[in-house]
Amino acid sequence: MSSKKPKPLISSRSHDRCPVCGEISYSLGGMHPQCAVRRADEKRMKGLKRKSAAIKKPKSFGGVRPWERLCPNCKTVQHVRKKVCACGHEFPVRAGTRTDEGNHD
Ligand SMILES: [Zn+2]
Ligand SMILES: [Zn+2]
Repeated sequence: MSSKKPKPLISSRSHDRCPVCGEISYSLGGMHPQCAVRRADEKRMKGLKRKSAAIKKPKSFGGVRPWERLCPNCKTVQHVRKKVCACGHEFPVRAGTRTDEGNHD
């Protein structure tokens, strides 16, 4: 007597396809939680892309331009070619950019 077949735990009717990735999902609502997040992210990214186009990169620290640097001693902006600040602070000379060190003249 084996007329009774065991029913599958999950019937094929409950196989909903995720609208995001198209894979079968057993989640409530038929959408993978991660896919729901991804879709929400994509929407947000689209909005961000539009916005970010208008947003410019913030200027370098303290509004110092590439040819300027900030004296750590008196906090004034000095030209990069200046070796000594008006306050007397000596800027460290980068290796390779040293000029004649022998002050023999
Ligand atoms: Zn999915
Ligand atoms: Zn200074």
